[in-house]
Amino acid sequence: MSEPVFSVIAPIYNELENLPLLYARVKEVMDSTGEPWELILVDDGSSDGSTDVMRSLSAEDERVRPVIFARNFGHQIAVTAGMDYSRGQAVTIIDADLQDPPEVILDLIAKWREGYQIVYAVRSEREGESWFKLTTASLFYKLIFKITDVKIPLNTGDFRLIDRKALDVINNMRERNRFLRGMGAWVGFKQIGVEYKRHARHAGQSHYPLKNMIRLALNAITGFSTYPLKLLTNGGVFLVGLSLVLLLIYLLLAIFNNFDLTYVLATWLTLIFLAGVLLIGMGILGEYIGRTYDEAKGRPLYIVAEGPKEPFDPTRLDNKINLEGTKNDEN
Ligand code: UDP
Ligand code: MG
Repeated sequence: MSEPVFSVIAPIYNELENLPLLYARVKEVMDSTGEPWELILVDDGSSDGSTDVMRSLSAEDERVRPVIFARNFGHQIAVTAGMDYSRGQAVTIIDADLQDPPEVILDLIAKWREGYQIVYAVRSEREGESWFKLTTASLFYKLIFKITDVKIPLNTGDFRLIDRKALDVINNMRERNRFLRGMGAWVGFKQIGVEYKRHARHAGQSHYPLKNMIRLALNAITGFSTYPLKLLTNGGVFLVGLSLVLLLIYLLLAIFNNFDLTYVLATWLTLIFLAGVLLIGMGILGEYIGRTYDEAKGRPLYIVAEGPKEPFDPTRLDNKINLEGTKNDEN
């Protein structure tokens, strides 16, 4: 089998009834490109027999490559494994429930051929989803867009095509709490959106309960924003300011209006002031924790899209330190 030009990745968690149709539609679409392709099915701990279907699909067609997890690790991790194992030059991530029509992959590929490195699919319409899901999802995207440092395009999911160059960078980001959409936006490169209509699930039901949506939202916020930290510090500054203004007002009233500054009032003022100071202190602590977290994520400092032929050699930095070390010893 020749090296695939295209990889399609589908995370699978109990999608027994969707798998055969997913395979059939992906096969038809990908065959029409005329290029070699692979379909990576990541089994995220299915218990409904999906695993056996994946095995038999790959026995029939060697382009189907199952990656079978030992247990459920969650959607974002399943997609990550798919990206790790993919070999194509252009890699598409798609949901297994056929909410994302495989035919749209051809539109994504067309943009990739024009030279874009990340082509994300934008949901212009969504059908068959509950009022609750639509409202929470829309609120979530707006909040993320407002408070994160990278601008994650609105109304996009993980359905997207990523070029090998950008994918290698994302694959090297091994942070454990993953929000792939944010990571995709963070790496940069030439990006563009393609609109599509998101369909209802073909069969089965959503495996994204509220609990998982909240976890994903937290990963998005903590991974790409320091806004909550700023809230602490700003709240603290506000309270300290408030207590000082109130103190001033009471003093003026006491001097000019013979107002009695009681112990109760004085205690309240002190409380507000102290709460403010504590919040500022927590904000400062948080700032250091935030920075430690940033270092722990170990993201690349920069990403080069085009550069000199000879790659940067980090050992040169080590040599310099050693040389200086020996020099000092001689003195
Ligand atoms: N999925 C997964 N692991 C999970 C939950 C979901 O791999 O723990 C897969 C699922 O099989 C599907 C995709 O992720 O292919 C999207 O999940 P789902 O359709 O349940 O989410 P929704 O579309 O409702 O947001
Ligand atoms: Mg779905």
